[in-house]
Amino acid sequence: MGSDARETEPPMNGEAFRACHHPPLAPLVVVSGPSGVGKTTVVDRLLAGSKLPLRRAVTATTRHRRANEENGRDYHFWGEGEFRRAIDDGRMLEWAVVFGRDFYGTPRSEVDPHRAEGRGVILVIDVQGAARVREVCPECLSVFVEPPSFEELEARLRGRQDMPEERVLRRLATACEEMARAGEFHHRIVNRDLIDAVCELEHVIRKRFNQ
Ligand code: ADP
Ligand code: 5GP
Repeated sequence: MGSDARETEPPMNGEAFRACHHPPLAPLVVVSGPSGVGKTTVVDRLLAGSKLPLRRAVTATTRHRRANEENGRDYHFWGEGEFRRAIDDGRMLEWAVVFGRDFYGTPRSEVDPHRAEGRGVILVIDVQGAARVREVCPECLSVFVEPPSFEELEARLRGRQDMPEERVLRRLATACEEMARAGEFHHRIVNRDLIDAVCELEHVIRKRFNQ
């Protein structure tokens, strides 16, 4: 008596309504860490050697293309005007000025349609971009890749031989700031032995997304 109202379902809030009418989005993984630590190497090995249903997003940058890079495969190489238009039009999931000079960012078109169609996406981006993605996609998994030592990071960065000394020094200075933010990530992986780092990344992804 007097409790009839309890027999009907409470009205759905917006979040519950969307969850009923849209299938869940496929996983989003964010891999970050200082330049030269081996993020790209670890992620490419993982994607080549595992059956995880993930694709690496091709992100956009205004920096110059290196001799071994291909437009559309390594990055979308955009002019600054093109990049600013994409930001203004709301076409970027995240973007940042990295190393104080170039724009880098993730076009939504590299992420949203794939996740909606059931293909997971992995982003290899800097710590500023990772923080933004955690804000706008709190369901993501974020992983910070650390070097075994600062000396080893320097050796790897120099070993690539793909940039002048002044840029190497800038990247090493930025690395210290980035390492100080490792605690913001869901997981930290030390890339000492490459195979171990790849296995660990695969393990945390499978565990988080039950795959
Ligand atoms: P990032 O994408 O983080 O800038 P890269 O993937 O380009 O770094 O790797 C930087 C350099 O370090 C490359 O020459 C790569 O072959 C090397 N490297 C990556 N992982 C390891 C590792 N575990 N041990 C030794 N060298 C590595
Ligand atoms: P590089 O110039 O060595 O290719 O990349 C420099 C840094 O920019 C790396 O830390 C790389 O992960 C990061 N980066 C690459 N793409 C993006 C992106 O789309 N967004 C952000 N925020 N960082 C990116």
